[in-house]
Amino acid sequence: MDRRGNFLHIAIDGPAGAGKSTVAKEVAKRLGISYLDTGAMYRVVAYKALRDGIPLEDEELITTLAENIEISFEHGEKEAVYCNGEDVTEAIRDAEVSRAVSLVASYPGVRKRLVKLQRQAATKGSFVVDGRDIGTHVLPEAKVKIFLTASVEERAKRRYLENLQSGKKTTLEEVTADIESRDRLDSQREYAPLKVAKDAIIIDTTGLTIEEVTAKIVEIAREA
Ligand code: C5P
Repeated sequence: MDRRGNFLHIAIDGPAGAGKSTVAKEVAKRLGISYLDTGAMYRVVAYKALRDGIPLEDEELITTLAENIEISFEHGEKEAVYCNGEDVTEAIRDAEVSRAVSLVASYPGVRKRLVKLQRQAATKGSFVVDGRDIGTHVLPEAKVKIFLTASVEERAKRRYLENLQSGKKTTLEEVTADIESRDRLDSQREYAPLKVAKDAIIIDTTGLTIEEVTAKIVEIAREA
């Protein structure tokens, strides 16, 4: 809570690979508040569409899917994401899901349903929320708004190394192409595109460590 007893909401937006989720998790831990990964929610919808063989171009069917899907998170010793009760933590990080997610996330009906769930979650406590439209659309009243960014080369390199560590076989070229394509789709879509909120603090994480970025955001939040 902030000094006036209101829940504290910290919005962290930015393009793929800018370090949002790693930093957001750590900031939440240090401040003793919850973390909501909104990208995981869009990934769950894309994953389920692929699994059920729903054509990604069928906006109506994908929207109906999003309206009926149950998404839940487990926090604590085990960090997990569930889709209708099934543990999909690993599956939603597949390259196939990464390629499909931005199209699914461009559908207004999908966004309306997931934004509703995100706002409902935020009314229940203090949260660090990461995504693309948190400061501009989901929680425009958030006390702290951060926009994390980094060069495409740096973001692709980080994602490639993460994949290597978790045993996923990708090339740097594939990861760069995926990031560039998602950047384009996420910032050019008509409804709630990725953009910097007017009152956001922009942090370019190129050349900064996770610790440096985390410490900076924690300091901003404590002063807010
Ligand atoms: O954060 P992450 O890279 O896992 O997000 C996956 C995709 O979900 C993004 O590329 C974007 O298309 C979509 N997304 C979104 N709005 C959010 C969070 C994610 O459109 N708030």
